[in-house]
Amino acid sequence: MKQIAIIGGGINGLCSAWAIAKAGYSVTLYERNQIMQATSAASTKLLHGGLRYLEQAQFRLVREALTERAWWLSHVPEITQPVELILPVYENTQRSRWLLKMGLWLYDRLAGCDNIAPHRWYRASDLRRLAPTLKSQGLRGGFVFYDGQMDDYRLGLWVAEQAKTLGVKILEQQAVKRIYLNGTLEIATDKKQYDAIINVAGPWTVSLLTDSQLPSAYQLDLVRGSHILFDNPLERGYFLPVPGEPRICFALPYQGQTLVGTTEVRQTLEQPITCSEAEAKYLVNVYNAYFTDSKSVDDIDETFSGVRPLIHCATDAYKTTREYALETQGRIVTVYGGKWTTARALGQKVANAVPIIQ
Ligand SMILES: Cc1cc2nc3c(=O)[nH]c(=O)nc-3n(C[C@H](O)[C@H](O)[C@H](O)COP(=O)(O)OP(=O)(O)OC[C@H]3O[C@@H](n4cnc5c(N)ncnc54)[C@H](O)[C@@H]3O)c2cc1C
Repeated sequence: MKQIAIIGGGINGLCSAWAIAKAGYSVTLYERNQIMQATSAASTKLLHGGLRYLEQAQFRLVREALTERAWWLSHVPEITQPVELILPVYENTQRSRWLLKMGLWLYDRLAGCDNIAPHRWYRASDLRRLAPTLKSQGLRGGFVFYDGQMDDYRLGLWVAEQAKTLGVKILEQQAVKRIYLNGTLEIATDKKQYDAIINVAGPWTVSLLTDSQLPSAYQLDLVRGSHILFDNPLERGYFLPVPGEPRICFALPYQGQTLVGTTEVRQTLEQPITCSEAEAKYLVNVYNAYFTDSKSVDDIDETFSGVRPLIHCATDAYKTTREYALETQGRIVTVYGGKWTTARALGQKVANAVPIIQ
C-alpha cells in the first residue's frame, strides 16, 4: 500500500488525510503542535458561500462553498446549524438596496436546492420588531438571509475522528523540518520515506518550501483577522457593511456570547497572532455604529486571531482572487490557501492528485 504523509493538522490537512485514506492509501499526518489549534480554530465560525465574493465574480467558488455548506449542515447537525443573518440598509449604506437584492438573489440561485431558505426584505418598522437593538435613525429596512454556523474546533476534531477510523495516524508535537522532491521527510531526529508528501501547513506552507530550498508557484499574503467577544448574546446574526469602507463585518450569537469580526492586518510569520488594541477599537466602533447598547473595549470578554493564507500568483496578478491552488513538484503536493467551508472539496482534489505522482 502506498504511504502518504500530510503536513499540517488544520482543517485542510485533516480533510486531505480523510479523503486520501478513503481512496485506500496509508496516511500519516504530522502536526508540530496539536491539531486544530491554529487558523482553523480562529475562524468567524461560518459555513458560508461568501456573499461578498460575488462582488469579485467568484461564482464557481461561491457555488462550491454553498454545496459544501449544505454537506456540513446535513451530515454533522450536532456541531453545525443554520444562522439567520440580517443585513440592515440605512440611508447612507454604500451599496444600494437593489445591488444587495441582486447579490442575494444570485446567492439563493447559486445554492439551488441546497438553499437553506430564500432571502426576504423587511421594511424598517418590521425590521425594528425583529431586531430591537438596531439603531433606527436612517434605517430603510433590511434583508434577512441564511448561512451556516459551526463550532470550528469541535467540527475539526470530528473530521479527525473520521480519518482515524479509516486508519490515519495522527502524530502531534512532530514538526517537519524539511521535505525533499524524492518523498523524504525530515523531522528532528529522523528521516522517513513516502510515496507522496502533502504540504498543507496553512500560513506556513511557503516557509516550509523555503526551508526545504524548494521553489513555490504561489506566494501567500498573510493577513491577520481578529475577533472580539462580548458576554451578552445577540438574538440574531448580522452582516454589517463597515461605514465608509467597502469591507463587511459580522456580529453573531455564538455559544452564549456575541462574536464580532473581523479585521484585515498584514503581518509576518514572526509576529504574534493576537488582536491589537487598534483592532479591538475598530471592531467596537463597527458594533457601536449599528447597535443601541453602546460598548467599550472594557466590555470585551475575549479576543482571538488567525492568519489568512491568501494566495497570489508570482507571475499572474489576476490569479490573486483564487481561493486555493495545488502545485505538484516531484513527490510533493503543496496546497495554497483554502477556506474552512470548502476544506472537504479541497481534500478530495488533493486525493485526486495522489495517483498521478510517479
Ligand atoms: C480571521 C479568520 C476568519 C475566518 N473565517 C472563516 C469562516 O468563517 N469560514 C470559512 O470558511 N473560512 C474562514 N476562514 C478561513 C479558514 O479559517 C482558513 O483558511 C483555514 O482554517 C485554513 O486551514 P489550514 O488547515 O490550511 O491551516 P491551519 O489551520 O493554520 O493549519 C495548519 C497547520 O499546520 C501546522 N504546521 C505548520 N508548519 C508545520 C510543520 N513544519 N510541521 C508540522 N506541522 C506544521 C500548524 O501548526 C497548523 O496546525 C477564516 C480565516 C481567518 C484568519
